[in-house]
Amino acid sequence: MMSLRQKGKSIGFVPTLGALHEGHLSLVRKARRENDVVAVSIFVNPLQFGPKEDFKKYPRPLKRDKELLKKEKVDYIFHPSAKAMFPQGFNTAVQVGAIRKSPLQNSLCAKSRPGHFQGVATGVIKLLNLAQPENVYFGAKDFQQALMIEKMIRDVNLAIRFHRCPTVRETDGLAMSSRNSYLSADQRRRAQAISRVLFWLQDQASRPAARARKLASLKQLARRKLIPFVTHIDYLDIVDLETLEPLKKIQRMMLAVVACYVGKTRLIDNVIIHT
Ligand code: AMP
Repeated sequence: MMSLRQKGKSIGFVPTLGALHEGHLSLVRKARRENDVVAVSIFVNPLQFGPKEDFKKYPRPLKRDKELLKKEKVDYIFHPSAKAMFPQGFNTAVQVGAIRKSPLQNSLCAKSRPGHFQGVATGVIKLLNLAQPENVYFGAKDFQQALMIEKMIRDVNLAIRFHRCPTVRETDGLAMSSRNSYLSADQRRRAQAISRVLFWLQDQASRPAARARKLASLKQLARRKLIPFVTHIDYLDIVDLETLEPLKKIQRMMLAVVACYVGKTRLIDNVIIHT
């Protein structure tokens, strides 16, 4: 990869866990449009899964993934083993949010999944060093992850341009996710409520009448709308778009975020609210 950069070729890189869908492919297509060379990693990073999470059962349809990437004219597929990435004796981690407690690195998914973002950051920084990209592409579906990686790149002065790409949805609104394959038909129907509630919040918060209202009551109503459809709400909030700090008052730009369980499957989603 270094020699490609030396030849003046721009490398666009898309890190993934595999089990690819149109969400991933939208990132790959953008990378294809904007770079000479496109590299995609498929790596189910063990460091980012908690002990009770789905590392073992995470889908790994490698052959299908490779075919999809071939169709998109991807130049390099990087599919390392966990042993190659983290050999015996590996003993370094990137600890995000360690110096100052910030909501970006310590709240929402960081709070519910201790160690998750440290695992993500440690895996991603290695992948970035290996791929040596000029551009890297992440999805807004994992908004906190995207902000966190963008900040890490800035914090440690990596010469990489970060791109956050829009969330791709199923026709009924459900954000595409490799984890959607865990859902039964009934759970899949229920899961539709997640984006429905987020779009409801987006609509309500952007109405002029909402200005006079406190966000707390909107959040409460959204919660009530979602509860009947899901097993458990981990969080549902309206937060600052950059710091992810929970908001009390309406701002020009906000982010509605949700994480919830449908059965045993944890799903996340978010929408930007312009008022
Ligand atoms: P994952 O394999 O789930 O780790 O995702 C790899 C990359 O694809 C991450 O940057 C995700 O944010 C992004 N991604 C996943 N789902 C979607 C989606 N529905 N729309 C856009 N990007 C997505």
